[in-house]
Amino acid sequence: MKIYDVIIIGSGPAGISAALYSFRAGLETLIISAGVGALAKAEKIENYYGTGKPMTGAELHASGEKQAMDLGIEIVRGQVVSVEYMGSFTVSTPSSSFSSKALIIATGTSRKTPKIKGITEFEGKGVSYCAVCDAFFYRKKSVAVIGEGEYALKEALELSHVTDDVTILTDGMEPKADMSRFKVITDKISEICGDESVSSVSFESGNKIDVKGVFVALGVAGSTDMARKIGAVIKDGKIAVNENLATSVPGLFAAGDCTGGILQVYKAVSDGALAAKSAISFVRK
Ligand SMILES: Cc1cc2nc3c(=O)[nH]c(=O)nc-3n(C[C@H](O)[C@H](O)[C@H](O)COP(=O)(O)OP(=O)(O)OC[C@H]3O[C@@H](n4cnc5c(N)ncnc54)[C@H](O)[C@@H]3O)c2cc1C
Repeated sequence: MKIYDVIIIGSGPAGISAALYSFRAGLETLIISAGVGALAKAEKIENYYGTGKPMTGAELHASGEKQAMDLGIEIVRGQVVSVEYMGSFTVSTPSSSFSSKALIIATGTSRKTPKIKGITEFEGKGVSYCAVCDAFFYRKKSVAVIGEGEYALKEALELSHVTDDVTILTDGMEPKADMSRFKVITDKISEICGDESVSSVSFESGNKIDVKGVFVALGVAGSTDMARKIGAVIKDGKIAVNENLATSVPGLFAAGDCTGGILQVYKAVSDGALAAKSAISFVRK
């Protein structure tokens, strides 16, 4: 498998800015992106340098991607569902895997915790956000994964290595991936129940299933999900970085909204450049 110098997850302001610096420094650079991030919701951007007349977030995003592609930077379209670190990084989408010496996570703000009764109360007591990290604790036990897409499917597959009893709960959503290998319940969840730890999940339909673990994997894998899986420190729901945007894992950097602070384009662009400079030094060493 080809080993890139740096893979950047995300093509928002932070990811594109990082790619411009790493590519122009001669690093073999790959961007993997699931599409427009926060900018999709921005109707008008008029506080960013050089944009002239106000533009929509979607226009700014398209212009950023075009700038990168015009330079020759490779962008793979896809949702990253898994990141592994074994001295180098392996980043997987549902259809392919890619390797790199350094990795920059620029995936925007982390996903929301679903508003399900009991979910925060049982965090660490049966509710988990990382199958790779916690599957071992649920060997031969009944577990559920909350989610509807490829990310939930990936977490269910990870759990299937330790238990035969994995149920996917879509919480009222239509499945967006082929989940035929697993039991799937599409009912809306009403509560995660238990005493000291999780013992069951109840549904608005009145049904109930007994489970010892509930893994949350809604939508797309969020930045903190990815970083946590490879052992990086998470603080207050964001990826913890030092002044050079390095995480606690060698070669792993983070940039933009996923590191917290001011959630604005200027900060994401600045972070991207700095994270790339740090990744360049790391790779050259
Ligand atoms: C409604 C709204 C209005 C705003 N208005 C302004 C404004 O006027 N001015 C301003 O400066 N800022 C504004 N912002 C904030 C600005 O949009 C963000 O600060 C900025 O986009 C953050 O850039 P980022 O690169 O960190 O993340 P994002 O722009 O969110 O980009 C994240 C990237 O990661 C990708 N990604 C995420 N998960 C995965 C995955 N699992 N696999 C592959 N790719 C993935 C996404 O597809 C996307 O490409 C606004 C935000 C919102 C929501």
